[in-house]
Amino acid sequence: MGISPAPEVGDTVTWRRVLVTGGAGFIGSHYVRRALDAEKLATTVPFPDLSELIVLDKLTYAGNMANLGPVAHDSRLRFVHGDICDAQLLDDVLTGVDAVINFAAETHVDRSIHGPQDFIITNVVGAQTLFDACLRNDVSRVVHIGTDEVYGSIDVGSWTEDSPLQPNSPYSAAKAAAEMLVRAYHATYGMCISSTRCSNNYGPYQFPEKVIPAFVTRLLLGEKVPLYGDGQNVRDWLHVDDHCQGIDVVLNRGEPGASYNIGGGEELTNRELTAHILNSLQRDWDTCVEYVPDRLGHDRRYSVNDSRLRALGYSPKNSFAQGLADTVAWYVDHRPWWEPLL
Ligand code: NAD
Repeated sequence: MGISPAPEVGDTVTWRRVLVTGGAGFIGSHYVRRALDAEKLATTVPFPDLSELIVLDKLTYAGNMANLGPVAHDSRLRFVHGDICDAQLLDDVLTGVDAVINFAAETHVDRSIHGPQDFIITNVVGAQTLFDACLRNDVSRVVHIGTDEVYGSIDVGSWTEDSPLQPNSPYSAAKAAAEMLVRAYHATYGMCISSTRCSNNYGPYQFPEKVIPAFVTRLLLGEKVPLYGDGQNVRDWLHVDDHCQGIDVVLNRGEPGASYNIGGGEELTNRELTAHILNSLQRDWDTCVEYVPDRLGHDRRYSVNDSRLRALGYSPKNSFAQGLADTVAWYVDHRPWWEPLL
């Protein structure tokens, strides 16, 4: 196995050939659209010298080629249908690639409770298979996308990156295992790899099993929304575009071997979130909300301190009020995207 030389991390880094795994999912596809269509999204250009952006995606139920529709015409985009557990395929794809961003994962906590094994296979074995392939192919830079759920639940205060990992669901346990591999691959092989631990994302193109699109689409269909337990679970909401901005900061300026929290700074109880969604669609609580039994092992509160990343230049741009209004409007306008997924 080769040992990748440390890249010149800093503003001058320009990546030419980039692999995005899981790039047909919610966050990965936003990252790809942002990279290829920066002008339209009115963001900064993360890859000024990009010659090829390869998306490798297994197209599970959560992967959707329509998510790449807006950039499908771009000659720099190459789509490869495949699995991050496939070492041979990874060797073929990684030739000449200088940066890899690993979004590929099984991501829905409820599914992990009913069927954990797929989560271990993709989120742990798949990550390890990918990291090994990056070593073999001398990839200069790897960013692994993690989650704040690896920390467990916190009643008061916020986690720093040095807080212990205490995952409570099979999903978060698998993501925590991958975080340990990130650390180990840097310490053992000198791999130039960093990870992110972001809070709950929202935005367009999110599969309608996650709470915001699930609630919006149900309300648009005239159905009630199911609120877990007492609705007092707290989440810190992060707009997907701010998350992608944070990933680029880690890619270019992150310390090898380090993890970076990424938060939106918008903590809400699920009751408050539900009220915001109802207001945006002018629906009322009593006729539209039903309480359902709580999720097993449901974490009470997540809260990250992301000052380590902010010190490198990260700063979320989207207010929750505007971001949610735009997201709800997107689902109102994009029924042909979400109706077939239900
Ligand atoms: P998603 O479920 O929308 O997309 C996952 C993508 O990975 C899909 O396109 C799927 O087809 C692909 N995939 C799954 N298994 C694969 C495999 N074995 N090989 C190749 N591709 C595979 O997920 P998302 O919400 O976009 O999340 C992306 C990443 O961000 C994940 O690693 C997730 O753990 C992390 N994350 C998400 C959130 C959130 O709020 N959505 C929060 C924190 C962290």
